[in-house]
Amino acid sequence: MTGTSSTTDNAIKKVVILGGGTAGWMTAAYLGKALHSTVDVTVLEAPSIPRIGVGEATVPNLHRVLFDFLGIEEEEWMRECNASYKMAVRFINWRTPGKGQSGPRELDKGGPDHFYHPFGISPEHDNIPMSHYWFKNKFEGKTDEPYDYACFREAPLMDANKAPRHLDGTSPTRYAWHFDAALVADFLRRFATEKQGVNHIQDEMTRVEKDERGFVKALHTKEGRVLDADLFVDCSGFRSLLMNQAMEEPFVDMSDQLLCDRAVATAVPHDDEANGVEPYTSAIAMSSGWTWKIPMPGRFGTGYVYSSRFTTQEEATAEFCELWGLDPETTKFNHVKFRVGRNRRAWVKNVIGIGLSSAFLEPLESTGIYFITAAAYQLAKHFPDKTFNQTLVDNFNKEIEVMFDDTRDFIQTHFYFAPRTDSPFWRANKELKLPASIREKIDAYKAGLPVNPAATDDTTYYGNFEAEFRNFWTNERYYCIFAGLGLEPDSPLPILYHKPESVAAAQAMFTQVKKEQQELLNSLPSTHEALLRLHAK
Ligand code: FAD
Repeated sequence: MTGTSSTTDNAIKKVVILGGGTAGWMTAAYLGKALHSTVDVTVLEAPSIPRIGVGEATVPNLHRVLFDFLGIEEEEWMRECNASYKMAVRFINWRTPGKGQSGPRELDKGGPDHFYHPFGISPEHDNIPMSHYWFKNKFEGKTDEPYDYACFREAPLMDANKAPRHLDGTSPTRYAWHFDAALVADFLRRFATEKQGVNHIQDEMTRVEKDERGFVKALHTKEGRVLDADLFVDCSGFRSLLMNQAMEEPFVDMSDQLLCDRAVATAVPHDDEANGVEPYTSAIAMSSGWTWKIPMPGRFGTGYVYSSRFTTQEEATAEFCELWGLDPETTKFNHVKFRVGRNRRAWVKNVIGIGLSSAFLEPLESTGIYFITAAAYQLAKHFPDKTFNQTLVDNFNKEIEVMFDDTRDFIQTHFYFAPRTDSPFWRANKELKLPASIREKIDAYKAGLPVNPAATDDTTYYGNFEAEFRNFWTNERYYCIFAGLGLEPDSPLPILYHKPESVAAAQAMFTQVKKEQQELLNSLPSTHEALLRLHAK
């Protein structure tokens, strides 16, 4: 036997994915492509067990890492999934007390209580990010322009409901998408089954059969099927039928850092012609959490994410109805309970959890679908053979753990530093403990240092998923949230006082942003017009 043939003998031949939600079909399509259809992939989905039915906002790498990889044009999947554009998350009323309201209140010192968290890496000068020149100007009273408006072209474009793309398809800015989650899963199902030969079985798993090593051998179904495979991916949603149940891998609960654990969601019809389409996700602060607003053609998806420790389903639904003027008697609500945390390990023996079966953070920064994309990418990168080399497993688990925990800490800071103390929910957030890892970043920020500056510029960063994955929450992200919430460094970066020439030259970056804002305001179509064109084709 040569080494080559023994390697071939050991190759994984069959993969079964349990669950046909967004996670199941994204993973199936990704593996179909990454493994060049050399592996027999089956998705087992129980039509009687509904998908979660939420998950509509994304981050920019979705297209490149998933759809581009699959060879699917942006226009094609956008049309199939009733998709719209997202240039940022707009945080509304995270600083001022009061009930949930869709428009910003007035800040004490004047100006509206809202800020944007756009995408993109800002320019730097002399190896110092633009944020730091902005803060020096602000600290010295030379500007009162907020960070998002001074350093990103996108802020005034979003105020004017502009699209992130010209009508010829070119785009001057970074953006992500809003879409109908059910349509995305169906679109990927068709793609995977018709173009990649993925098998689709509609039946309910009732029993898991293991071998003497504790590896999963086969899944048994209600209709008497026995699905054996070398590798199983658990995409069964919060039930986590393989990871938590069959493999008994513990779920590490993180509700001591993030208090929200419920959502009440619905879709609201919207007159796009009369009101335009907002090219951003809104995150509106409420008395016991926050509400998402995700515009899509003809409607917006919305949901109040709340903490059951501080309000009841009835109270939350009433506050939610009041926010949008909904009739509680006639509106169809999706009440969702969720758990915050991750499985201790994402991969155990021959079972890997992807999607809600593995980990979930509350949806504030739209990371659910990103986590699925990243996990599918990492699975392909660490794809094993039948020997299940433990180093592959351990490395995969480390990547998922760091990705998740880093994001969890970042999201906790949103609630922790929001200056509101007008309800038990907001007060309780201030009393939670911040982990040491995020404390270090906050200390660096307060001392005037950049936090996780991107090692590359905007083009290289977004063109290389490895670079992005290793530093997902860059200096721009921390600055948007911290400065947006009113948390500022104690002083500007001290070295700037010894670089008068750099400080003077850096002002050209601000002039350039202003110039480009104006040019783009004049040249970009409205989001409504861009979507009409796209969806009419
Ligand atoms: P599900 O959609 O629950 O799918 C589970 C699948 O398993 C179903 O097909 C079901 O039929 C199948 N199944 C279960 N049991 C069996 C069985 N016994 N036999 C066979 N099949 C079975 N993410 C974002 O990126 N952006 C957002 O804006 C966002 N908002 C969210 C808001 C809320 C309130 C929540 C809770 C999540 C949100 N997410 C968001 C996360 C996102 O919804 C999920 O990551 C995504 O939908 C993936 O879900 P899933 O496929 O893991 O699970």
